[in-house]
Amino acid sequence: MAESMRVPWNEPARVALPRHLYVHVPLCRTKCTYCSFYSVVDDGSVSHTDLVEETVSLLRGWITPQVRWVPLNTLYVGGGTPTALGMELSSLIKSLTGVIPLATGAEVTVEANPDSVSEELLGELADVGVTRVSVGVQSLDDGALSRLGRLHDRAGALDALAAVQSAGLELSVDLMCGIPGVSHEVWLQTLAEVVECGARHVSVYPLTVEPGTPMAEGIAAGRVPAPEEDEVVDAMDAAAAQLQELGLQRYEVANYAVPGAESRHNTAYWTGEPYIGIGGGAHGMLDGEQARAIGLAPGNEADIGRTRYGYASDPFPGGAESPLAFLESLSVQDAAREDAMLGMRLTTGISDELGQRAGVIGPLESLVADGLVTHESGRWKPTVRGWLFGNEVFGRIWGAVE
Ligand code: SF4
Repeated sequence: MAESMRVPWNEPARVALPRHLYVHVPLCRTKCTYCSFYSVVDDGSVSHTDLVEETVSLLRGWITPQVRWVPLNTLYVGGGTPTALGMELSSLIKSLTGVIPLATGAEVTVEANPDSVSEELLGELADVGVTRVSVGVQSLDDGALSRLGRLHDRAGALDALAAVQSAGLELSVDLMCGIPGVSHEVWLQTLAEVVECGARHVSVYPLTVEPGTPMAEGIAAGRVPAPEEDEVVDAMDAAAAQLQELGLQRYEVANYAVPGAESRHNTAYWTGEPYIGIGGGAHGMLDGEQARAIGLAPGNEADIGRTRYGYASDPFPGGAESPLAFLESLSVQDAAREDAMLGMRLTTGISDELGQRAGVIGPLESLVADGLVTHESGRWKPTVRGWLFGNEVFGRIWGAVE
């Protein structure tokens, strides 16, 4: 070994940071009527340049003498509305990947809203390494979009999808089902149109009414109709059948993809891989070794399977007293139990080995008896009925103590 390559005998081994990074951009042009996520209306009071610099400085803060970075397999810039940053979004990504570089073939996703997407911006994003754009379309029905408080209309959504396609980026589309006033035919047509526009990944989420939102108030006052549970279930079922027919397979309870176009970043969440999350209100997760190295290991340090943390809404200097709003750890076995629970979101389910390690074989057998899970070839997989009664499945696994 060359002298210069020798590691000094007394230098402690540095722990590798996660290979996945989530960055939250808490800005939106306006607030949608149903939204309870943390975001600030971009009314000119927030300097985009400062937000970019402060976000990058949060990432720099992770590189301490106790850890070493490893190239990122996935980077996901979500919100909020990252595209509300305009051209500064590409500066953000360039600066972030200057702190922790991307691995070869990394997946880099940006969430976008149709009202803040342009061909010029998409070209810039492709130049700084973005590979995938997740567009918040929600609906292609003008009436529904207006009731949801979205800034775009049907034509604007279709233009945005075409722009992502012509920039050569992978297209993912978010749609909302069970919106009152959207007929079954319009819903099926919407699914077909987004696939026709080139979406190889579609996420379908039910419209949920969150307390304190303008939508909840409108429903309570009788001004707007509430989503009907039966219609939501029918729309979810119809989406599964329609997207399957169009070549997109359901790989997670709410996500469909052409084989090979599944979200690698989100799959990391569902399979218990650690990730760094940065930005106002962002969450992250570290394994026990990383948490101990970084000094984020509350409780019994010897038995930490994972630590979750969440940033304060305003974690920047001059904001909250502490940049972190919460910190919680799970034991090694609880982390395995959580993996087993999360695995039930996926079509592939979980292995016998994980079921045993998590101590959840008993509950899994009871779920099989109730038709909510199947057990074949060494894997426990949710049934469609199991997804419908997800709380029952997750609750029995999480509540298991063998
Ligand atoms: S764009 Fe997304 S984050 Fe922003 S207000 Fe609408 S739903 Fe909420």
